[in-house]
Amino acid sequence: MKVLLAKHAGFCWGVVRAIEMSRSLAASGQRVYTDGPLIHNKQMTERLEAEGIQELGDYQSSADLSIDDPQDAITLVRAHGISPQRRAYLKSLGTQFKDATCPDVGIIAGKIRMHAKKGYATLVFGTPGHPEVIGLMGYTEGLGHVVETPQDVDALPDINGPLCFVSQSTMFTSDFEELAAYIKKRFPQTLVFDTICQATKDRQNDLDLFVKEQVDAIIVVGGYHSANTKKLALLAERKGLPCYHIESAQQLQEAPVAQQLAQFSCVGVTAGASTPEFIIEAVCQYLESLRGRENKGILA
Ligand code: SF4
Repeated sequence: MKVLLAKHAGFCWGVVRAIEMSRSLAASGQRVYTDGPLIHNKQMTERLEAEGIQELGDYQSSADLSIDDPQDAITLVRAHGISPQRRAYLKSLGTQFKDATCPDVGIIAGKIRMHAKKGYATLVFGTPGHPEVIGLMGYTEGLGHVVETPQDVDALPDINGPLCFVSQSTMFTSDFEELAAYIKKRFPQTLVFDTICQATKDRQNDLDLFVKEQVDAIIVVGGYHSANTKKLALLAERKGLPCYHIESAQQLQEAPVAQQLAQFSCVGVTAGASTPEFIIEAVCQYLESLRGRENKGILA
């Protein structure tokens, strides 16, 4: 079996940065709490917990949080970022406060805040309830709407003042462009900012390269709760090739996937931005072992 590994599979730089920050803080001997899971990957979360990095609570809950001996603990904001209101609340808990918001998310928040202060309403292309979207909406000064589809745009109230349109960092570029065009039909003066991050675009472009390389199937590795992995799998399906979203190499050995894999001579492997290298490597090693080890290439 020939295995082509996507050049941009696995951790993006924002996730690497957040994990490195959490590990270096934990190495100082203090308890580190993250506002929600630092990463949507069970195996990686277990490793981090063993190092003293744990989830503070349910970030979507309005329930009060409490931390024992807060002076000896650190609260760390995840790469997704948080709203200004949540930031103020977390700071009030009395722990040290550190921020691992991905700078690419920070740029989106900055654009929203700057325009909201000038009176702009904001449309955020994203998944309602996603932590990044919740955080971004906090910068809209009450003038924000989340839109995912043309129907969501149709359902908007009249907006008479200035309007800007941004995206959650991990959306599909083609969907963003289509929705921007649709929005402009109803609100022609809308300022459009393509804020999908480069890491997301790189992962999406790699899928096109798989098609160009004529792989027989695409395997997407990553947690079932990882929004960016689910999106990557959805986009892979749109390419019209057999697509398998798996969390571990073990699943490739189970029926009916194992039988289907036996028919392929070349597969492409990619992984969401929250998938650790050790899981990707285990998947590639298993695939290479099928019908004898041939080679593993990396997409150029
Ligand atoms: S997916 Fe993009 S915005 Fe999100 S953490 Fe990674 S680099 Fe940052």
